[in-house]
Amino acid sequence: MYNDFKFYHFDCECITPEHSIRFMLDTNISYGKPELYLEMQLNKLSFWNRLVTGIKYILGSRKHNEFWECTIISPKDIPRFKEMFNDFENLFIEYNR
Ligand SMILES: [Zn+2]
Repeated sequence: MYNDFKFYHFDCECITPEHSIRFMLDTNISYGKPELYLEMQLNKLSFWNRLVTGIKYILGSRKHNEFWECTIISPKDIPRFKEMFNDFENLFIEYNR
């Protein structure tokens, strides 16, 4: 399933594993336009916190920061971000030929 994906992992500057992010670039353009996915782990809360958060989510709570985490991008990762977006852009160029 993931044979056509190129993976890029970025760790948060705070080194918390849950803040790591992963991009998946679908390089198989024979199925359609290239797509770049962003994945992040959900924070590991206690059972009760997850239950309460889940109930709030189900009930449609709209508190602004309730379901967000953040990742601090390190300047050392800038070249890898550039590489990733260049790969993404090059796939679009190839796709639009
Ligand atoms: Zn962090």
